[in-house]
Amino acid sequence: MSNKTFTLGESLYDYMLSVSLREPDILRRLREETARDPMARMQIAPEQGQFMALLVQLVNARNLLEIGVFTGYSTLWMALAVPEDAHLVACDISKEWTAVGRRYWAEAGKDRLIDLRIGPALETMEGLLADGQAEGFDFIFIDADKENYDAYYDRALRLVRKGGLILIDNTLWSGAVADPAIQDRDTRAIRALNQRLHTDERVVLSLLPVADGLTLVMKR
Ligand code: SAM
Ligand code: CA
Repeated sequence: MSNKTFTLGESLYDYMLSVSLREPDILRRLREETARDPMARMQIAPEQGQFMALLVQLVNARNLLEIGVFTGYSTLWMALAVPEDAHLVACDISKEWTAVGRRYWAEAGKDRLIDLRIGPALETMEGLLADGQAEGFDFIFIDADKENYDAYYDRALRLVRKGGLILIDNTLWSGAVADPAIQDRDTRAIRALNQRLHTDERVVLSLLPVADGLTLVMKR
């Protein structure tokens, strides 16, 4: 016996979903539409969306920031978990992908609380800081281009309030981070950030083997 996290087999994974997943119909339909996109694997898994929605409610998030929207599936999980007076700044460079999400956000009646910013996320984050929004966010989800992960984390740590959460996606990167033979840019960027987080005393840290690895960072 060991208390290590173990990889779920197909049947246990299905069982887990069968007794825990509560994916609203609108999110299921958005996921099914996204599945027809060749890049569909970029979308978070439904159980991760549900977990993030729980965290959003746990920290009572009113001001949220998402870096990497794609077709807006993770965005909508978060938007469905917040009260009507919440505000979610969603950053992406793609008008085409986010246009899919915008249809579903409107159908869900959540489009008014989602503030989509098309453009490089680093510029949007710098703009928020310049605009006096340091420590103005309760919840930040980082899931865009991996090469910029370190830079996103820097800005996110300035934008999040004390006690607020930063979630960083894909921190296990299909296992590539643990294989020294793999040295592409994305893998090296994620590995470097993981290393940096480990010794960053400004935050409370947990890397969960949820989906492709989800790191939870709480600002002290
Ligand atoms: N969170 C989304 C979900 O669960 O469905 C998935 C996001 S996907 C992994 C990454 C997204 O980052 C893509 O939609 C891509 O257009 C966007 N992206 C890539 N480079 C970016 C940049 N420099 N600034 C903002 N968004 C960027
Ligand atoms: Ca991801």
